[in-house]
Amino acid sequence: MRIILIPIGKVDPAEMQMLENPLKTEFSCDVTIGKKIPLPAGAQNAVRNQYDAEVMLEFLSLSRETAGRDRALGVTDVDLYLPGMNFVFGLAGRRNAVISFHRLRQSFYGLPEDAGVFQRRAIVEAVHELGHTFGLAHCEDPRCVMRFSNTIAETDLKGPGFCTTCRPRVRTGEATGR
Ligand SMILES: [Zn+2]
Ligand SMILES: [Zn+2]
Repeated sequence: MRIILIPIGKVDPAEMQMLENPLKTEFSCDVTIGKKIPLPAGAQNAVRNQYDAEVMLEFLSLSRETAGRDRALGVTDVDLYLPGMNFVFGLAGRRNAVISFHRLRQSFYGLPEDAGVFQRRAIVEAVHELGHTFGLAHCEDPRCVMRFSNTIAETDLKGPGFCTTCRPRVRTGEATGR
């Protein structure tokens, strides 16, 4: 089982790299960083100054970079939304997922930048969305990475790890077919 991380649009390579080892650990998978793909113009909503997460995910799934891969995580710095929602931190499909770094930085909330806080949030969101692609649903345990989060405070409550219920349900052994 292999996970490929794909930057969508301009993303700091160092910020991509920091996801590599934590994801290897959480999923016991091979993790590699693929070639950057451009931001899909069709996903942009100029009025909202955001990108439609569903369109981004589809674009990623159709990309040559993800062809033949077990799992792909698209990583972007632009702000994502879904119709009917103000924003989303990320979105998962059956095999692929996308996350946005946009709202994970302290500067977004008018606070001084904190690399450690940013890194922790990025890992939590990456594990959460990939967790969905490995068959996991949302979890009620407030410390579990699979807990749904709607605010950055909720993200910060969670750890990057799975609870004891979710952990054995991570299906990385073979293709899950879902
Ligand atoms: Zn979720
Ligand atoms: Zn859990």
